[in-house]
Amino acid sequence: MNGQSGWRWCRKCQGIFYAGGSNQGSCPADNQSHDGGKSGHYLAVGGDDAPGQQGGWRWCKKCQGMFYSEGSTQGVCAADHQPHDGSGSARYAAIGGDDAPGRQGGWRWCLNCQGMFYSLGPNQGACPAGAGQQPGWRWCRKCQGMFYAAGPKQGVCAADKGAHDASSSAHYALIWGNDAQGQQGGWLWCRKCQGLFYGAGRPGICPQDHHSHDGSESGRYAMVWGDGAEGQQAGWRWCQKCQGMFYAEGPNLGVCPADHKAHDGSNSAHYAAIAGDARVAHDASASASYVMAWDLPRSMHIHDNVTFRAGVAVGGWFDLRLTSHGDISFSGHFHDSGADSYDMTLTVVLMSSDGLAYSVIHQGRTHGTFESGSRDDDWARNERSNLVATNWERFATAGWRWNAHAGSLVGRALTDFVSDTAKQLAQNLGKAAVTSIVALL
Ligand SMILES: [Zn+2]
Ligand SMILES: [Zn+2]
Ligand SMILES: [Zn+2]
Ligand SMILES: [Zn+2]
Ligand SMILES: [Zn+2]
Ligand SMILES: [Zn+2]
Repeated sequence: MNGQSGWRWCRKCQGIFYAGGSNQGSCPADNQSHDGGKSGHYLAVGGDDAPGQQGGWRWCKKCQGMFYSEGSTQGVCAADHQPHDGSGSARYAAIGGDDAPGRQGGWRWCLNCQGMFYSLGPNQGACPAGAGQQPGWRWCRKCQGMFYAAGPKQGVCAADKGAHDASSSAHYALIWGNDAQGQQGGWLWCRKCQGLFYGAGRPGICPQDHHSHDGSESGRYAMVWGDGAEGQQAGWRWCQKCQGMFYAEGPNLGVCPADHKAHDGSNSAHYAAIAGDARVAHDASASASYVMAWDLPRSMHIHDNVTFRAGVAVGGWFDLRLTSHGDISFSGHFHDSGADSYDMTLTVVLMSSDGLAYSVIHQGRTHGTFESGSRDDDWARNERSNLVATNWERFATAGWRWNAHAGSLVGRALTDFVSDTAKQLAQNLGKAAVTSIVALL
């Protein structure tokens, strides 16, 4: 299948994103970059509505994700919790269906964020629509401040300049958004101290460097007014000295970065924090079944040196190359530098993800000092295989293992030698059993 290379699956949010650009986008799971490290390689298919495919998909230049742009909304973007931005995108199509050669099924459209995500993983990922809340916030028992604890760093605490301490904290979620009924917008996350501060008033004081907090990479948060409803905790206040949000009903009023005395909530309204840490998953309930096309390499190449136990004066190498057109090249070389002659047997076994095994075999003889004939055993076979061409996905993603034997197989059939190799390979790959072994040459 033709398409655009560079797409990866993010194991944190389960979304598909373009990893070939200048950045790895915004991940709704933690507001950091997407993580395509464990991903296979995918192609995005260009096009519009056609049989078997749905047009209207776009790349979002803010979060790098793929989303459906022709629904009633442009969804919710992890970068800023505003709609995705498909301007500048090529026209992509989502392909319908399930697992098939060259394609991975299990992909779904999320009706809340409009994004494409993988639905057959251990969870349904993290949705930027997320019911409008971000989990991962905690209370620091040292400074009494509210800070974001789900990132790579635990920030800087005014109490001791160390990290904040969430060890006694409940779990909190913050609302994404602006001023609205019952809530006050203008709250920002400081990338330096990880704290929550009011960014729409006077500049605050950051415990990291005693300059202003830095909300330049923050989403927009809102705090709930009041003394707490069901699922909320009352007692939170704004400190007019440092601009931070702190808990004012604890054993003390914490440590303020402005003067290292207690925070000052005397001019603050009453705020409540939302309890809970529910990771809000994508919602595939209204989705068709989609596939993503694998971006397969055009060839597979295995080259290895072959040595034997001490006392067997034979060594060499083999080379096996397969292409998507079905070309198979299998070559190699053994050299006998000793006195004894050997019958040589070499097999390379490939195994696809569904446990099917494929073998190539070479048998020859090297001649030692005591026998006439060549010390070398060279071979080179080139064939074209329809099996390889039509099942290229199996081969491009196959695991492999080889085994070589110098000397007679003594009563051991060649088929046993090959099937023992296949069994060892199955074990390496975590497969329960070998379904069948097909000889490629
Ligand atoms: Zn992600
Ligand atoms: Zn986006
Ligand atoms: Zn979603
Ligand atoms: Zn702290
Ligand atoms: Zn700060
Ligand atoms: Zn303060």
